[in-house]
Formats: sequence, structure tokens, C-alpha cells
Amino acid sequence: MSALESIIPQNQGDSRLSYAVRLMEQLVVATFVVDADCRVVIWNRACERLTGLLASEVIGTRDQWRAFYTAPRPCLADLIALGRTEEITANYEEYDRSGRDAVFSDSYRVRSWIDMPRLDAHIYLTADAGPIYDESGKLVAVVETLRDMTVQKEALEELERLATHDGLTSVANRRCFDQTLNTEWRRATRESRTLSLLMIDVDFFKSYNDTYGHQGGDECLRQVAAAMSGVVMRSSDAVARYGGEEFAILLPTTDPEGACLVAERVRTAVASLQLPHSGATIAGHVTVSVGVASVAVTTQGVAAQLVSAADAALYHAKETGRNRVVMAGDATGPAATDAQAA
Ligand code: GH3
Ligand code: MG
Ligand code: MG
Repeated sequence: MSALESIIPQNQGDSRLSYAVRLMEQLVVATFVVDADCRVVIWNRACERLTGLLASEVIGTRDQWRAFYTAPRPCLADLIALGRTEEITANYEEYDRSGRDAVFSDSYRVRSWIDMPRLDAHIYLTADAGPIYDESGKLVAVVETLRDMTVQKEALEELERLATHDGLTSVANRRCFDQTLNTEWRRATRESRTLSLLMIDVDFFKSYNDTYGHQGGDECLRQVAAAMSGVVMRSSDAVARYGGEEFAILLPTTDPEGACLVAERVRTAVASLQLPHSGATIAGHVTVSVGVASVAVTTQGVAAQLVSAADAALYHAKETGRNRVVMAGDATGPAATDAQAA
């Protein structure tokens, strides 16, 4: 008796059985079936193509892991057959329990990047698996289907990048900044932490465009953004293009002294680029002004206050000569003082 026959009721005729096996083998969706002991009973052609592992190598064995891993490890179908479904959450990057209707209430979907050992390829694999029970309710097999979703996943990641990053400078865009600010504000409120913000504006940029043309201006913005990204250290620090030639850097869990230190590093990094700017009346090269605001976040405040405070400090930096860092608390302007208190 073949492995497949062992899970198909005896009263099915041979011809129907071989017809069913042929159907499975020709199915365009990569599919394999394991019995209740995790032995492979079907490994179809599409599965051979997708994994590089041949049916002749795997049928009748428990070697299905060889398609996905370099060392023995249960696959999704094995975990279901073994009743160890609680391990599914721990083993995969993403998973769904498709318990929405009665027919598929025990099925699972997992998605994961996998280095396919037989193919020397890194692919994003989606696997769906569900148990098959006999009339008495005993589990007799688990069917697993596999789909290579690499192209779709990469397209989705690229879309996400386009939606959150600035096309010119590749730093985060304004939309992403607003979301990050709200997230970090809530986190800072929960954990009673200090949140700091730098608002940075390129000095005399209108005249830079007038002198070097709009394309020259664009290239300058790219270099300024890269220089700023190079000086922030923590992974939680977020550099964003706020608009035009204005940038913002959000510094979670950073006190005023730390924020001023980063602001000064930003100012120096841009000045060190030594990008010639004949229209700049103070330095002869491209410089930036930086406004710094820092708040110990309480439940009363709102995130917009931090932006107004940094903006007011930036305005003050411009007023007092440009190419400098001004801390909101140091600013004499009323907005800056109010927001610092917030
Ligand atoms: P200040 O020192 O006070 O900041 O003076 P400024 O000339 O930099 O200030 P202003 O806000 O008047 O000028 C900003 C200029 O930035 C005007 C605008 O044409 C230019 N700009 C905004 N976005 C872009 C962009 O994407 N590319 C280029 N090349 N220029 C931009
Ligand atoms: Mg400017
Ligand atoms: Mg400006």
C-alpha cells in the first residue's frame, strides 16, 4: 500500500486514487501532504520546482525540512500534525490563523523570508496549511501549499519606502515625520521621558538657487541631508525633510544637553562639506541654522508644542546671524519660552 493509500479510504477504487494523485501532481500550486506521523505522502511537481527538492528524495520520509532549512526543523505542516501549533507564532515572521469560517478553522498561513538551501535563493515564502480528519475526527493528513511571494513583497516594500521617504534626499518625508512624532510623543508620555527636536534650515538658500540653479540646489539638499544622517547615532533618531530646505531631527530619550550636542554636530557637519555659496554673506559656503527644543513629556502637552518651540528657536537663530544653534530655553521669544515650559 502506498503512503497515499494509507490516508485514503479503502473503498475508493484504484483508478480514482491514481487520478487524484495525478491531479495533485499537476496542480500549479506547490503542494505537499504529510500523514499524521509527518511522513511525506505527496510532493507535487510545482513543489519540486519551487523548492528544488525532488519527490523521489522526500516521499515516505520526514525530510521535508530539507526544502527550507539546513538542519532538521519542523515545517508548518509538521507543527499542525504534531499538535504543536503554539510554536507557529514563535517560528515565523508573520502568521495568520484563518479561523474565519468553519471549513478552514484549523488552517494557518505563515510568511517568511527563507534562504532556500536547494536553490541558493532568498525568497519570501507564503505557506498555507490545514489538517484533514477522517469521519471519526482523527487527523489523517496535513496539506500545505507554498507560494513564492518575493516579487509582491519587494513591490510592497518599495511602495512603503516611497510613501514614507523623500524622493530627493531619501530621508523620511513629512508624512513619516508626523507619524513618528506622534508615536514617540505617546511613548515619551507613557515612559515619562524627555523628547528633543531639532529644526534645521539652510541659510540663504534662495540665493543659492539663484546662483547655482535649481539642480545645483537639489544636489546641495542631497548632500546636506546625507551629512545630517551621518551624525545621528541612535537607531531611534529620525532625520526627515520637513519641507523645502527645512529638515527636522527627532531625538527620543534625549535631554537638552544631548540635543544641543547633536545640533552642533549637524551644524559642523554641513559647514565641513565646504559647499561653495558665493551668495552667503556670512561664510562663503553652505551653512545651516538649528533650533532645538526639549520637553519632559507630560500627559497635558501636545506634540505640536515641541515643533513650535523648535521653530521659534530656529527663527531666533536666523535673527541673530544664522549658522548657529539656538536652544528654545535660550530664546527670548515668547513662543519659545512658553513651549519650553510645556
Ligand atoms: P534663510 O537664510 O532665512 O533661511 O533664507 P532662505 O533664502 O534660505 O529662505 P527662503 O525660505 O526665503 O528660501 C527657501 C528657498 O528654498 C526658496 C526655494 O526656492 C528653495 N527650495 C525649496 N525647496 C527646494 C527644492 O526642493 N529644491 C531646490 N533647489 N530649492 C528648493
Ligand atoms: Mg533657508
Ligand atoms: Mg526655509
